[in-house]
Amino acid sequence: MFEVPPRRTHTCGALRATDIGATVTLDGWVASNRDLGGCAFIDLRDRYGVTQVKFDPTVNAALAAAAAAVRPEWVVGITGVVVSRGTNTNKQIPTGEIEVEATEIVVLNQAETPPFPVRDEVTASEELRLQHRFVDLRRRPIQKNIVLRAEVTHVVRQFLHENGFLELETPILTKSTPEGARDYLVPSRVHGGEFYALPQSPQLFKQLYMVAGFDRYYQICRCFRDEDLRADRQPEFTQIDMEMSFIDREDIYELCERLMSRIWKFVHNHDIQLPIPRISYDEAMARFGVDNPDMRYGLELQDLSALSADGFPFPLFADAVAKGGVVKGIVVPNGGDISRKSIDDYTAKAAIFGAKGLGWAKLTAEGWTGGISKFFDAGWQTKIAGAMGAKEGDLLLFVADLAKVANPALGNLRKLIAAERGFIPADSYKFVWVTDFPLLDYDADAGRWVAMHHPFTSPRPEDVPLFDTNPGEIRARAYDLVLNGIELGGGSIRIHDTRLQSKLFSLLGIGEEEANQKFGFLLKALKSGAPPHGGIAFGFDRLMMLLSGATSLRDVIAYPKTASASCLMTEAPGPVDDAQLRELGIALAKPRG
Ligand code: ASP
Repeated sequence: MFEVPPRRTHTCGALRATDIGATVTLDGWVASNRDLGGCAFIDLRDRYGVTQVKFDPTVNAALAAAAAAVRPEWVVGITGVVVSRGTNTNKQIPTGEIEVEATEIVVLNQAETPPFPVRDEVTASEELRLQHRFVDLRRRPIQKNIVLRAEVTHVVRQFLHENGFLELETPILTKSTPEGARDYLVPSRVHGGEFYALPQSPQLFKQLYMVAGFDRYYQICRCFRDEDLRADRQPEFTQIDMEMSFIDREDIYELCERLMSRIWKFVHNHDIQLPIPRISYDEAMARFGVDNPDMRYGLELQDLSALSADGFPFPLFADAVAKGGVVKGIVVPNGGDISRKSIDDYTAKAAIFGAKGLGWAKLTAEGWTGGISKFFDAGWQTKIAGAMGAKEGDLLLFVADLAKVANPALGNLRKLIAAERGFIPADSYKFVWVTDFPLLDYDADAGRWVAMHHPFTSPRPEDVPLFDTNPGEIRARAYDLVLNGIELGGGSIRIHDTRLQSKLFSLLGIGEEEANQKFGFLLKALKSGAPPHGGIAFGFDRLMMLLSGATSLRDVIAYPKTASASCLMTEAPGPVDDAQLRELGIALAKPRG
């Protein structure tokens, strides 16, 4: 053993044929060692690549024996001479033309046998991988994602810096900032019985920066939301958070489009088509049934309700319209081969959104067959098929219900069927801005209005009179950027007028006293010279998932939590000492078992 480790001259991914003859030192992890034709070989790995190292016992028997004794994942330093591999070139790796003939090996540290091999493909469970994430992170697919994440972070910082943004921090120990989730609370030792909340977003602080005059803010920040178990949600996640003063929606769209272009050019050398199209929330719901439409394929929802004027011969259609609902449908091109079993499955999927049934019919040369065909004579069949642009061989699916049921039921079937039937083109990026979301949503269980985005979102000025008459119709100056059916981020122009903010609070059932207690500082700030302002936040983990082609958020986060919000490596959350609890003045209602 040597006390002073050798200093590497190159990384394990650097050497090429042009280096032949050079004496080099490499440090890294033993990816594998083997004996081939009497020679010992080590594949030495670091995050830059793998280099083959050869130990010839006829040149130095002791060295070859030392090399044969090392195990996978040991950390070693190797000095030697770069030689050609001759005809044994390995075309799979960039260093494949050369190998290093070792003159020295230093074991820098031994390692226990890893719980799973450090290979691109492993059969180990994700649980085991997350328990040993420090080993898992050595695997190339994960490592690539983490490196890409760092690079994209840099691209974002550079872009925003070039555009005059300041990277400004906001507190982590703070007061609740409502974004629609539960807060993570942190007990205060100094103020017994009181709690900080971890930020669900820096929303209020970024607005206060605007009031203070820092007119272009950004932060790549961590947000915390305590939501119920959901696959692929993380309790802490990263946002690219931005806010600007003296701007309108157009400025935000323009800036974000340039930011996305920069990122896609950097990662995929892909030119996003600008400007990104926009559709209103109402249009998105009407045509696609969801507020995050996937624009890569058609299969749009069609509204047949107007045909009720001719008196639908099918009572369920007629009733739905009579009750204020809609009759909507989709045409599955060449869907005539879809089995009864699949249609039953679609019906079950539609039921998840409250649809009481799914009408269907197949178009054949002899007219409609199956499902609800028998309710429609030839005239009606032609009329409906004509209205929907359907042709022989297609399958028609219908939902007759309230719009709030029919839209999501068909919208989600649309996604499912597009995936099943191969309608989604590969390597296609279809961005869309969804705008003019409703300001409010009615929570029927709680019997009150809730903010659809957050309670600091500005209504469209022309809709302000609706506060007193029809709050459900107020449209917000809010927008989401959606890519391939996935929401990348969202934001809004904010309320900068105290009276309007108070009015919205009271509509949300937040009385004056509660408003002052929770958001007094905001109301004061709005009175102290607040400029018009607005912003947006992008979900950075999700963005990285889409950019890297990963299928799980956990594959783009170095130290992720599981669906039940635990960290399998550190075993957080965990119990704390009784002494710590006493100091905090906390008694557990349910003693630990
Ligand atoms: N704070 C918002 C969010 O986290 C984003 C924004 O309105 O800028 O969704």
